[in-house]
Amino acid sequence: MITEYNSFRKYRDLKGKLERLFRSKINLMLNRIKVDAIRFSHPYFVTEKASIRHNIDHSGLGQSSPVNIGMLNLEKIDLEVLWDQLKLVHDKFNLFNVTFNSVFKNISALEQYYSNPEKQMSNMRCSIPWKTSTILANGDVIINNRCFLYKCGNMHDNNFKEIWKGEKYRIFRKQLKQNKFFPPCSRCCGAVPRVSKI
Ligand code: SF4
Repeated sequence: MITEYNSFRKYRDLKGKLERLFRSKINLMLNRIKVDAIRFSHPYFVTEKASIRHNIDHSGLGQSSPVNIGMLNLEKIDLEVLWDQLKLVHDKFNLFNVTFNSVFKNISALEQYYSNPEKQMSNMRCSIPWKTSTILANGDVIINNRCFLYKCGNMHDNNFKEIWKGEKYRIFRKQLKQNKFFPPCSRCCGAVPRVSKI
């Protein structure tokens, strides 16, 4: 207990001890399950509505279909319980090897994420097409496996540099710059902002 008789130094020592204790407990747990760190992430998904919208408005940019939504029942998620649990884990363990993707600042942002999944969470434009690429087992090069199926080339026909700088990539990047986002971007990791603190 911190009392008026405790000095700041003592408090700082105590805080340090508690943090070390927590850290060793977390490390123990991570060692036990043989991982270095744990990262929590909200699900990324594409709803049927978003994929239909994409296929109508951007038919030249590959077909979109629902992704990762089969096991999710968005209406059944108790957002208040989820918010309390997120806060608990975040407050207790955020200092250590337990981190979060997409932390929301308040419960309304969380509600928007799950209750209004076609709405963009921010104005942030995805930068994935300028940074990374995905090569499928058959050699097809696509933007990202969560993105809609837009084939930029095939490694059996061209080398990666040619594809990366090729016309298909250029068209995609130009369209993304112009539109800022496509419907499937609304719950994709490339366009959901990352906030580090609740
Ligand atoms: S945010 Fe949009 S453009 Fe970026 S990878 Fe996801 S679906 Fe594709």
